[in-house]
Amino acid sequence: MELSLASACADEIRDKVRAGARLSREDGRWLLTEAPVLEVGAMAEELRHARLPGRVVTFVIDSNPNYTNVCITDCQFCAFYRKPGDPEAWTLTVDEVLGKIESAASKGATTVLLQGGHNPALPLDYYLTLVRETRRRFPQVTPHFFTASEIQTIAGLNRLGIGDVLDLLREAGQRTLPGGGAEVLSERVRTRIAPKKGGPQAWLEVHREAHRRGFKSTATMMYGHVEQADDLLDHFDAIRSLQDEFGGFTAFVPWSFKPGNTLLEKWIKHYQGPNTYLRMLAVSRLYLDNFPHVQASWFSEGKKAGQIALHFGADDWGGTLFEENVHAAADYVNHVGVDEIVTLIREAGFTPAQRTTEYDILKKY
Ligand code: SF4
Repeated sequence: MELSLASACADEIRDKVRAGARLSREDGRWLLTEAPVLEVGAMAEELRHARLPGRVVTFVIDSNPNYTNVCITDCQFCAFYRKPGDPEAWTLTVDEVLGKIESAASKGATTVLLQGGHNPALPLDYYLTLVRETRRRFPQVTPHFFTASEIQTIAGLNRLGIGDVLDLLREAGQRTLPGGGAEVLSERVRTRIAPKKGGPQAWLEVHREAHRRGFKSTATMMYGHVEQADDLLDHFDAIRSLQDEFGGFTAFVPWSFKPGNTLLEKWIKHYQGPNTYLRMLAVSRLYLDNFPHVQASWFSEGKKAGQIALHFGADDWGGTLFEENVHAAADYVNHVGVDEIVTLIREAGFTPAQRTTEYDILKKY
């Protein structure tokens, strides 16, 4: 694109953003595919500061354990799961999971994001007891448990509706859901990389029913495999529309696909690096005009990219992730403690603040 045409497009989009007007799909396509990345970043940063003045960047003290790696869903991008009966398959008892939550709580965690494979051997009561006992024994910890596809699986195995399972989890004390398992919410992509999970509506239905009942959740996106710009726009449009209905999403959290040890690995010709990540963050800040927070995934993209992300529209640093096994299965490992998070956020020019799962601020540093 010629320089003058590019700057005309940028001016038009900047004017829309400053006026609080919603960006169109064409705007989104240009931002994703042609716009100079630094221009997109500057627009996103301006909007982030206009929406959230005060230069505060939040983080959460959390852990991300898993309760089973047994799964019957065979996602092409997953290095974590094992089929039932595999010698490397494992499932924790309720007490073992609670032991992990106790360990996270002893280190100051206020959120535990618990997820696992789709293990048909686990009864409904296993899930409900985990929530109930976490609430009872560790009241300071928010049980941020079970992604949409796990809830779908629990519903299917127990011949219940999605809403019934959510009602039972709510009765047990759960109030938030993690946004994992969305991948890219386009029919084409989900059919290719996770055909047994159902189309985008499967993920959206769980979050819609959850928001209808007062749950809060996050929306994630795992890009960098078989998607094209239109698939990403399908994803952005779907979650923006759902947010218009109930306002139940707290944050958007994108990260890049890690191909190590996955079935999809051989098809990936080009690893998506920080340049794409920063563009994705900035576009999400601009396009998802009804999302309060955008999270910098230091864990998935690295600490330095995480710091730069704070200048591309992100206002949250994510969590400490005391335990993480899913990226580790793809040979991707990264660690950070609270002191280091505080230093990294300060170094980037912001005021660090510890938050809850629902983004309420607990303490400024
Ligand atoms: S991503 Fe989740 S549902 Fe898919 S194979 Fe892995 S554990 Fe199973």
